[in-house]
Amino acid sequence: MSLDDRPGGTVGPVPWCEACNRYLTPPTLEEDGTCPDCGTVLAEPEERHKVPWHFWVMVLAVTLYLGWRVVQGILWVLGKL
Ligand SMILES: [Zn+2]
Repeated sequence: MSLDDRPGGTVGPVPWCEACNRYLTPPTLEEDGTCPDCGTVLAEPEERHKVPWHFWVMVLAVTLYLGWRVVQGILWVLGKL
């Protein structure tokens, strides 16, 4: 199986620009993942900048956990009064 068989097309480890007929390294691409010379979209911009969804799940879990610990702490203090 070659990289071109993957869903999403020809986006591989090294972006290849068909129009310019050359390889481009990811840092040379524009911020939005396009070729700096011809503007062809070579990389998915969200893959370069987006935070993975499981990060937000972890943030939510930690927030809920710490919130629950605060509630427990308040209840503990109230119980000591
Ligand atoms: Zn190009």
